[in-house]
Amino acid sequence: MQELPDELISQIAAGEVVERPASVVRELVDNALDAGATQITLRLLAGGVRLIGVEDDGVGIPPEELPLALRRHATSKIRSLQELESVGTMGFRGEALAAINSIAEVSVLSRRAGADGAWLLDGATGELKPVARAQGTSVEVRELFFATPARRKFLKTDATELAHCIEAVRRHALARPDVGFAIWHEGKLIEQWRAAATPAQRIADVFGDEFVAQSVAVEHQEGAVRVSGHAGVPDAARSRADQQFFYVNGRYVRDKVLAHAVRSAYEDVLHGQRQPVFVLHLAIDPARVDVNVHPTKIEVRFRDGREIHQAVRHAIENALAAPRAAAAAQAGE
Ligand code: ADP
Ligand code: MG
Repeated sequence: MQELPDELISQIAAGEVVERPASVVRELVDNALDAGATQITLRLLAGGVRLIGVEDDGVGIPPEELPLALRRHATSKIRSLQELESVGTMGFRGEALAAINSIAEVSVLSRRAGADGAWLLDGATGELKPVARAQGTSVEVRELFFATPARRKFLKTDATELAHCIEAVRRHALARPDVGFAIWHEGKLIEQWRAAATPAQRIADVFGDEFVAQSVAVEHQEGAVRVSGHAGVPDAARSRADQQFFYVNGRYVRDKVLAHAVRSAYEDVLHGQRQPVFVLHLAIDPARVDVNVHPTKIEVRFRDGREIHQAVRHAIENALAAPRAAAAAQAGE
C-alpha cells in the first residue's frame, strides 16, 4: 500500500468536479461572484476546450496567497464546521482551482483592491511575476484534459461544449441580475447581459421579452420559506424542459422535491408532456439546507422537504390563479 501523490489525488478529485468545459466555467464564475464582482467576462476558444478565460473586477487575491489558491483544500471562505453550516458563498471546498490545475494549463492574474500592482501566477511552474492589470482577477484555463486523454475523448463538438458553457453562465446570470456578463467565443461577442438589471429585465435579456410577457410574478412567503421569481403561464409551456431554473439561496440546484412541487402546481393546467418555464428563487435559513452533498454542489438536501414542497406548490398555484381571478372579476363587471 502507498499514499497517492498529490497530483494524482487532485486529478481524481477533478474527475468529480470537471466533466467538461462548462464545469470549469461554473467554478470560475462562482469564484468571481464570491469575490464581489460586478462585471464578469468569459473568453472561450474551441467551445472552451482550448481556452476558458474568466475576468472579474472583484476584490482580487494578494500575491502571497496566489500559490495557495491553487492548493488543495485551501479556501478563504470558511474556517470551521460552524461556518460551513451557514455558508453564504458559492464555494467553500477549496478544491476547484487545484483540481482544474491538475488537468489543464492554468494561470491566475490578480490585483488586490488597494494594491499598487498585479501578479501573474503560472500554475505549472509556480512562477510569480508582476504584470499590469486593474483590480480583480483573471483565470485562464488552457488545453483542458491534455493530461487525461480518456476524458478528452468524451468531449462533444465545440458547438455543443460552447452551448453548455453558455448555459452555465445563464444559470448564474438569472440569479444575479445585479452583475453584468459578457461571453466571447473565438474573438466574437456572443452574449452580453447588462449589469444592474431587475430580475424581470435579466430574464428578458437572457430569454427574450416573450418569457416575461408570458409569465406571472411569484412572490410567496410560507412559514420560514420565501419563494419568488417568474412562472410561465400554461400557454408558454414547451416540449423540452430547457427553461426551468431553481435557486436555493442564490445557488442553482436540481432537486426532485422542487421539481415535483412545480409539477403538481401545474397538474390541472398543463397536459401531456408539456414542460412549464420558470425561474424560481427559494430563500431559506442556510442552516436548514445542506449544500455539501456533492462536489458540484448542484444537489442539496432539505431539512424540511415537505414544508418546502408545499411552499413552492402554493406559490405557483397562487400566482397562476391571480391573473385568472382578476380576469374573471373584470368579465363579471
Ligand atoms: P473555493 O471557492 O471553494 O474557496 P477554489 O479552488 O475555487 O475554492 O478557490 C480557492 C481560493 O482562491 C478561494 O477561496 C479564493 O480565496 C481564491 N480565489 C479564486 N478565484 C478568485 C477570484 N476570482 N477572485 C478572488 N479570489 C479568488
Ligand atoms: Mg470556488
